[in-house]
Order: sequence, then structure tokens, then C-alpha cells
Amino acid sequence: MKAFSYERAATPAQAAAAATKPGAKFVAGGTNLLDLMKLQIEAPVHLVDINGVGLDKIERTPDGGLRIGALVRNADLATDARVRKDYGVLARALVAGASGQLRNMATTGGNLLQRTRCPYFYDTNMPCNKRVPGSGCSAIGGFSRQHAVVGSSDACIATHPSDMAVAMRALDASVEAVNAAGRMRVIPIADFHKLPGSTPHIETALEPGELITAVTLPEPVGGRHLYRKVRDRASYAFALVSVAAIVQKDGTGRVALGGVAHKPWRVEAADALLPRGSKAVADALFNGARPTEQNAFKLPLAERTIAAVLEQARGRA
Ligand SMILES: Cc1cc2nc3c(=O)[nH]c(=O)nc-3n(C[C@H](O)[C@H](O)[C@H](O)COP(=O)(O)OP(=O)(O)OC[C@H]3O[C@@H](n4cnc5c(N)ncnc54)[C@H](O)[C@@H]3O)c2cc1C
Ligand code: SF4
Repeated sequence: MKAFSYERAATPAQAAAAATKPGAKFVAGGTNLLDLMKLQIEAPVHLVDINGVGLDKIERTPDGGLRIGALVRNADLATDARVRKDYGVLARALVAGASGQLRNMATTGGNLLQRTRCPYFYDTNMPCNKRVPGSGCSAIGGFSRQHAVVGSSDACIATHPSDMAVAMRALDASVEAVNAAGRMRVIPIADFHKLPGSTPHIETALEPGELITAVTLPEPVGGRHLYRKVRDRASYAFALVSVAAIVQKDGTGRVALGGVAHKPWRVEAADALLPRGSKAVADALFNGARPTEQNAFKLPLAERTIAAVLEQARGRA
């Protein structure tokens, strides 16, 4: 690990101001950032600890939704009674992620910003456009079983690893952020994570130094909330494919997928096809898909996972 200075911020404004120092980076739970620092994939010169800035509350919004502070731990969010009752898809996605110990540390903001688990991204001996722009992509033509089947580019085929973000996409969440000048903005989660295009190192709509302050959820939409994650072992593994769904009694609803793209994958036209079943939904979700030979299995796997979720929604599984 390279040497760095460290400071604890007491308020969001102080944190955002501290992050204007060149090479500064926020640290929340540290469960992703510190691993990346040990591997010298990230080398911040100044760490701004945001654990004391007071963003650790879950509050009702005036319109009946929920405002989740950026420092709320994944474990606390998953067990919050309001989340369990009205946003079950989020509670289920959270407990499907990582381990109990990690969920006790991992935060809402940090989870959204965790970096890909592409093995080549972690191997500094290998070219990777995300780690070193312009160096090439080792996964294209390499080991690509875990990688994206849709929305990828000739520069990068990595997936976004978060479970939580997939549920938030199904819930139409918004991300609140503030910069050092005090400018607040709200970014719909649909626009928060970016597709790789020719700049896979630019992963989100956040500007350098911007601090996530909260994620807001709109008022509850009812329906059955389901999250199904398919992975190589029963726990403590990232998704090959995951499905977050909210299904109403009449069969309408929403669906978002994890493990298939560079961002939580939702296509509004596919939502409209839910009453017609998994094949129609999967066809719309994967329109234009470009799987590799090694990960083409994800397409039928995703369709079967959607089918299982729809069965579960009808109370048959
Ligand atoms: C072994 C292992 C297994 C895992 N399995 C899963 C899994 O199955 N599913 C899953 O979803 N996740 C999984 N994770 C990832 C884990 O969920 C993330 O590491 C965690 O959510 C990151 O949150 P954090 O608070 O620790 O972030 P940190 O590591 O502190 O930060 C991550 C990034 O976010 C930035 N950041 C943090 N907070 C803010 C903020 N408020 N504003 C702006 N920038 C900010 C940091 O600067 C850093 O760049 C796993 C992790 C490990 C180590
Ligand atoms: S898929 Fe993306 S993260 Fe993985 S090696 Fe290629 S450029 Fe890097």
C-alpha cells in the first residue's frame, strides 16, 4: 500500500471540501477501497473518512418514500422494518450480497460505487482499459464466463457487481450528491451508472470530489417483491445472473437484472411484457446482446431465472 494522509470529516460540507485536495478519496466502510489500495489499483494520496458526517439515518420523505443516508450500513438497511415491509426487493437483494461481517461495514454509498470484479481488473500484470485507459481488454478473447452479455463495448465487457443497486433500479431510486461548492443534485439511478463505451474508467455520473449524501426511494408501489440470485456457490459469491422484480396481482410490474451488464440492467419495454411471461421479457431485455462463447449460457439462465421469479410471484414456487 502506498503512503497516504488521512482525515476525518465531521460534516458533508467538510468532507466535500477535503476531497478537493488532488488525489483525495472518500472512505466509508472501506471494504472495497482498502482492498484496491493494497493491490495498488487505487492509490489515493489523501483519505477522507466520512463515517462521522451524520449520514447514517433512514427517514420518511414528505411524499411517503424513504431517504437512506449514504453511510447507512447494508445490514441496517436490510433489517429496517420500513424497508422489509414496503421495499422487500431491496431487503432481499442486500442479504444476498457479501457476508454478514461485510454487510455490517458496507455502506449505501460505497455499495453503489464498488468496482467491478473482473479478474483482469484486479491483476495488474494484465491489460485493462478500466484500470489503465487505452491499455486493452484482457477479458475480450480471454476468460469471460462472468462477464457482460449486454450493453458491453469493444473496450470493456465487465459487469457491475452490486446486488443492492439492482433492487434500487427496480425501485426507481434516486442518488443525492453534493460538491465542494455546496451544489446538491439528484441523479435518477437509471442514469447513475454508465455503460462502458470507449471510457470504461468513467463508471458513474458523479463528478470528481462529489459526495453521495443519500439514496431516496419513491413511495411504495405494493406488489410482491422478489430477488433471486444465481451464483457458483450458495453464498458469498457475486451473481452470474440476478433478478429483482416487483409483480402486481394483475401480472404487471418491473424487472431489473444484475450480473449481465456494466450497470443494473432494466429496459422499460421489457417491464410492459411481464404479463406475457419470461421469454417475451428476456427477449426485450437482451435485444442486441453480444455474449461471448463462454458466457452465452447467461441468456437462457436469465430467462429461466425470470420464469422462476414469475412463478414465485404467482405463489407457485
Ligand atoms: C469478499 C467480498 C464479497 C462481496 N460480495 C458481494 C456481493 O455478493 N454482492 C454485493 O453487492 N457486494 C459484494 N461485495 C462488495 C461490498 O458490498 C462492497 O465492498 C461494499 O458495499 C462497499 O461499501 P463500502 O462502504 O465498504 O465502500 P468503500 O470501500 O469505503 O468505498 C467504495 C468506493 O466508494 C467511494 N465512496 C464511498 N462512500 C461514498 C460517498 N458517500 N460518496 C462518494 N463516494 C463514496 C469510495 O471513495 C470508494 O471509491 C463483496 C465484497 C467482498 C470483499
Ligand atoms: S472487461 Fe473491463 S475491467 Fe475487465 S479487463 Fe476488460 S476493460 Fe478491464
